[in-house]
Amino acid sequence: MKLVIAEKYSVAAQLAKVIGVDIKREGYFEGKEYLVSWCVGHLVELAEPGYYGDHLKKWKYQYLPICPEKWAYRVKSTSKKQYETLKKLMLDREFSVPMESLICATDAGREGELIFRLLYQQAGCTKKVERLWLSSLEDEAIREGFRNLRPASAYDNLYQSALCRQHADWLVGINCTRLFSILYGDSPLKIGRVQTPTLAMLVEKEEQIKAFKKEKYYVAHVITGGIDAASEKIKDIKTARELCEKCKGKPVKVISVKKENKDQQPPSLYDLTTIQQDANKIYGYTASDTLEYLQQLYEKKLCTYPRTDSRYLSEDMEANAERMYRIIRGVYPFLQLEEIKPDLSRILDSKKVTDHHAIIPTREIDKAKIENLTEAQRNILHLLSVRYLCAVSGTYQYETVAVELECEGVSFFAKGKTVLEPGWKEIYRTYRDLLSPGKDLTEEEFVLPDLQEGMVLPGADTKSNEHWTMPPKRYTESALLAAMERAGKDEMENDVERKGLGTPATRAQIIEKLVQDGMVIRDRRQMIPTEKGMQLIQLVPEQIKSPMLTAEWENELLRISKGESVPEAFMEQIRNMVEDLVRSYKDVYREKEENEMREKLGSCPNCGADVLSGKYGAYCAEKCGMKLNRARKVELTDEQVKDLLNGRRIFLKNLPAKSGGTYSAYYVPDGVEEYSYEGKDGKHYSGKQFKIRIEFPDSD
Ligand SMILES: [Zn+2]
Repeated sequence: MKLVIAEKYSVAAQLAKVIGVDIKREGYFEGKEYLVSWCVGHLVELAEPGYYGDHLKKWKYQYLPICPEKWAYRVKSTSKKQYETLKKLMLDREFSVPMESLICATDAGREGELIFRLLYQQAGCTKKVERLWLSSLEDEAIREGFRNLRPASAYDNLYQSALCRQHADWLVGINCTRLFSILYGDSPLKIGRVQTPTLAMLVEKEEQIKAFKKEKYYVAHVITGGIDAASEKIKDIKTARELCEKCKGKPVKVISVKKENKDQQPPSLYDLTTIQQDANKIYGYTASDTLEYLQQLYEKKLCTYPRTDSRYLSEDMEANAERMYRIIRGVYPFLQLEEIKPDLSRILDSKKVTDHHAIIPTREIDKAKIENLTEAQRNILHLLSVRYLCAVSGTYQYETVAVELECEGVSFFAKGKTVLEPGWKEIYRTYRDLLSPGKDLTEEEFVLPDLQEGMVLPGADTKSNEHWTMPPKRYTESALLAAMERAGKDEMENDVERKGLGTPATRAQIIEKLVQDGMVIRDRRQMIPTEKGMQLIQLVPEQIKSPMLTAEWENELLRISKGESVPEAFMEQIRNMVEDLVRSYKDVYREKEENEMREKLGSCPNCGADVLSGKYGAYCAEKCGMKLNRARKVELTDEQVKDLLNGRRIFLKNLPAKSGGTYSAYYVPDGVEEYSYEGKDGKHYSGKQFKIRIEFPDSD
């Protein structure tokens, strides 16, 4: 008997069906040769800091950094029941037939590997394990997978890389969240190893937008012989109008005509990040929605494994790839009217296939009732199919023409574009037309009349137009995904394969977390950092928010999974970083602590911060410019400040009178006023102070 363990119930059910395991029991399926059970995502998780010592339940600077020597795991409380079932099955306490070995059938990727291994360890299982590695849930692919089970040890490096990812996230997340919350937060400031650099990119863009100053400019046009040519940018309207006046009715000479043939290769197939981008652009789906829909299609056997970063198929898939082309054409005949010989060489490249190949529809779409899918599932499947047809179609070819004209000694420019061969763009255009009928999405073709150098065109008509310079655009989710993928790219060597923040499989989740933590909001398709998010990025140092550094780490994780780098070195780096960081905030912490030790006298009437008792009298903790230790040149005791802050009058004796003697009076607080004077040192002093009204006692 062998025990097959899938990542979730729906996949377990499909595996069971294909391998003929048909008796449903509580928490598993039973057959003659196999039992099939499932996890509920991660059943086992890293213990909270408090597990390593009761004192660590408190958030205190003194206890940071928290770097466990030996990592402790515990069973997630929400999945205890399924864990117990699995444990029983793994240790075969219930079956008469001995359970010889296990088949790990969790998702074929870094997280899937981790889910199984942690379960295996937690349960104390020592049985032999084989790995089922699937890229598709089609029946044939499942059968093929069971015929080619691999030794679990082939995935040891992947497991190590997954562990490093998990431990690094914990170290950075727990320590930095506590550190910065202790130092600056009224509410917890959530920091994440990948999340915070992503936020930093959004904040940087927001700052560019805020700093941007819109400027007006003008462009003069000459219009003649079927051509509308524009001048360079002109700063003021007067110059633009004068130029128009000058050129009106004058001949226009053709200075140069530059023609160029250009082409655009078809796009590659989709990996997860690229389809998330397109689905966001075209349908407005969030990255996490798109992953969800893909997962649903995958479980319906209608598309291949979605958590992939490859955009190619392996070369042994050639025959299948050809059939796939015909099937898609059959299912979506309106996309491509003429049948072509698909150019499969464009999509086949074994060197660019890692754990999984690109996401494509499966042969099952032929039989499936597509109309029964949800609208979102249909849209995603449609998108996958369009991409497939595009990817194996011909090159898009066009000609560009750049013309320079001259009128009254000033240059004007015009551009034209003629499509020579629509190629793959034809399919894409047909698809976009289907989505928004009536909306003209034809290639921005613009045919110029035939011009030769030296030609003189007759009297020109003129006009001037007003334009505004445009601020940088906010990130859409699609653009953010692209930026996450590109992060650190310019700084790294070219042969580095994976660059960027997070992996394709985790990017959607990271974006969702930022939204949940209140760091980012979605406004239609734009991603906008909140005030809280902006503040957080201002507070944290480069190590925590640098996209480049995080991208380098991601690359290190990839190298670990390939056995090119050792986990210990990586973890050492992370641990050092966290330790250095905590240490570097020692002074900041000490000052904060000293402030906290001081007696609080009340709230600053100017800024609302705490007013503290200090060596030189009362002061505002925020140092907002409010002078609190004096009023009307009289030094105040802490008690008196407290009274004034609470709106109570204070009684002062022996105040110097102008006449020379002294008098007594009440100082009554009456808000805040500005002061400014020239000191004895010649310097100028200014700030705010208590505004005081004087009341005299009734009888003296
Ligand atoms: Zn203040």
